[in-house]
Amino acid sequence: MLIALLPGDGIGPEVITQARRVLDALHIDGLVFEEALVGGAAYKATGHPLPAEALALAKRADAILFGAVGDPDCDALERHLRPEQAILGLRKELSLFANLRPATLFPELADASALRPEVASQIDMVIVRELNGDVYFGEKGMRMTANGKREGYDIMSYDEDEVRRIARVGFETAMARGKKLCSVDKANVLETSQLWRDVVIETHADYPEVTLMHMYVDNCAMQLVRNPGQFDVIVTGNLFGDILSDQASMCVGSIGMLPSASLDSDQKGLYEPIHGSAPDIAGQGKANPLATILSAAMMLRYSLNLPEYADRIEAAVAKALAAGARSPDLGGTCTTAEMGDAVLAAL
Ligand code: NAD
Repeated sequence: MLIALLPGDGIGPEVITQARRVLDALHIDGLVFEEALVGGAAYKATGHPLPAEALALAKRADAILFGAVGDPDCDALERHLRPEQAILGLRKELSLFANLRPATLFPELADASALRPEVASQIDMVIVRELNGDVYFGEKGMRMTANGKREGYDIMSYDEDEVRRIARVGFETAMARGKKLCSVDKANVLETSQLWRDVVIETHADYPEVTLMHMYVDNCAMQLVRNPGQFDVIVTGNLFGDILSDQASMCVGSIGMLPSASLDSDQKGLYEPIHGSAPDIAGQGKANPLATILSAAMMLRYSLNLPEYADRIEAAVAKALAAGARSPDLGGTCTTAEMGDAVLAAL
């Protein structure tokens, strides 16, 4: 089993180093790693943020563990040469259409949530966001109106196959958890959402054990803060998912805690923390590596079919937190390496 390690920029290499230490400590038979440059680091070395070599490695690998990309030195580059194009290019080239973001509150971190501890402690959900379609990928542009005003436009669209495949991921995810799926749309005003809702209802016929509900996105944003404990799995489109998953992340505390998976239709996946390259703290040993370590656990569970090892990592993270390991974002003083040490000690 080949793992492509793509550390990227800023704190990316720092957090990937700790995830690699944890994976090495598990001594999993047949697991091998190959590393390649992506993002600003790749641009500086090769002139492109996603060099052919890195893309080829990602395609060859069984799974990809990604750090983060983004480098202020590259801010003035043309858009197609910016570091962020590495992650967008990988999602597109590998057809990674399903983004899974679990949001679970570790009880020890109840005080780090933006919500009251008794509300936050109920959070245990997965948001399934469609990644390859919607308003981000529709026709877009700038034009002049008949009366001479500038007008920007971005067309929102989904075809039924795109909705069906992400709905299936939502139902499958719910089947593996609490068997409750909430589909989020804006069907009261958008035709795209009406089709979304119709196809989700049709797909439900294949998953009779799952309880399906529908919610308008504005209500969902409110419910995530009011009563997040009601959600098991949420499935939604690219735009709504982008916003709701960031909202959910702050409900469970630090951005340094949240892992994610982006999967294709064969469960091949790219695993990454939801945070970026954090240039403000890069190189200072202040980054929390737990989101990346938990992303490695998701990789073992979803792409490598090794759930027992994933369980061990997740239990070790909980134990490390219970033992008091806290990086600065969690209100403590542990360095990135000390957070890794704490997880290794708890494995
Ligand atoms: P960011 O997530 O990098 O940082 C936001 C804030 O959270 C910063 O204060 C940072 O110090 C803190 N933070 C982030 N991760 C942390 C961690 N593991 N431990 C402790 N604190 C952490 O977001 P940003 O500042 O908006 O973006 C910085 C760069 O990252 C930009 O170039 C952006 O485009 C890029 N970015 C990349 C990805 C990705 O690679 N998938 C995602 C988001 C942003």
